[in-house]
Amino acid sequence: MRSVYLDHAATTLVDPRVLKKMLPYFSENFGNPDSLHACGRRAVAAVDDARDVVAALLGASASEIYFTSGGTEADNWAMRGAAHAADGKHIVVGATEHHAVLGAAEMLAGEGYAVSYAPVDAQGKADLPALSSLVRGDTALVAFMAANNEVGTVQPVAQVAEIAHERGALFFTDAVQAAGCMELNVRKLGADLLSLSAHKFYGPKGVGALYIRGGTPMAKLISGGQQERGMRGGTVNVPGVVGMAEAFRLACAEREERNAHISRVRDLFVEGILREVPGSVLGGHPEDRLPGNAHFTFEGAPAEALLPLLDLAGVQASAGAACSSGSHEPSHVLLAMGRPRSLSRGVRFTFGKDSSEEDALFAVSAVRDCVARLRTK
Ligand code: PLP
Repeated sequence: MRSVYLDHAATTLVDPRVLKKMLPYFSENFGNPDSLHACGRRAVAAVDDARDVVAALLGASASEIYFTSGGTEADNWAMRGAAHAADGKHIVVGATEHHAVLGAAEMLAGEGYAVSYAPVDAQGKADLPALSSLVRGDTALVAFMAANNEVGTVQPVAQVAEIAHERGALFFTDAVQAAGCMELNVRKLGADLLSLSAHKFYGPKGVGALYIRGGTPMAKLISGGQQERGMRGGTVNVPGVVGMAEAFRLACAEREERNAHISRVRDLFVEGILREVPGSVLGGHPEDRLPGNAHFTFEGAPAEALLPLLDLAGVQASAGAACSSGSHEPSHVLLAMGRPRSLSRGVRFTFGKDSSEEDALFAVSAVRDCVARLRTK
């Protein structure tokens, strides 16, 4: 039976070219980069090269890149590290952030920080005047993601950075979903902190990076050895960072070609759904959205009932963070966009570089049939 993977925002497969680069660091070059002998020196050279590549692709210096265990760690470090090192006890966080950021904000709230949630409009875009009114003299940090993982809306990051900086606050952007699809130059964006995760752009899971602008006051999240210039204890995941750098390099080099292909396939799917499935509502921004993202809510066919049916029919999609963990709670992203609870459990279909037009057409028929079955129940 045909099976179509439309969950690239959850994770992607490792590109064979990336895997090839990684493999020697599991075997002949297995050294610990902290060892001073030849084996360790080979590992340290690989980590240095990877750091150079990631830095250059972000328009940063190598000394500003810190490798982490993924996007969640980078997000937690950005939030907690910046807040703990600052004088101000207030932070502003986008209402549609990933749970890694929201969770860190909740922990800070538990420690006595005041947290304000910056609203978005019905298409998931930052409401800039509202955000501006939330930033105060004691605001340590403003966190706003570059692109949303659920509905794909791309945010006016440079403008948010400007608002934060006008009041002397730091600006952090979670670029986990944007990386690879969008140009990310930290200077142009005005980011003081920016997080990445390799498995979203055809790299391995369990490795990410945090960009920390040189001179930014920052506390540690993980203490231990002197790795990562004494800022993040723990032996660096050498094959992981090698893979991350190669995956990021390929994603940036092939960005235009990939985006053109992915958005064409995605648009075919969106047009098909809107034509063939009455009562389907496209979520997110009509133009400013990630190329692979199509988010739909189907009246009378809630995500938690639709997703298992789609899976049986050979279409693998997801519901964004809440439902994927087995909960049937409405999505905080859709609620923040002003949706009523009845329309706040949608399905996220995310296309990737290897998705085909046939995949899109197959998925349209599967969605049409599964939604019809649920509605006649
Ligand atoms: N931030 C965003 C926007 C994400 O979409 C994700 C993953 O889904 C993360 C952070 C967490 O990244 P990781 O899976 O590497 O911990």
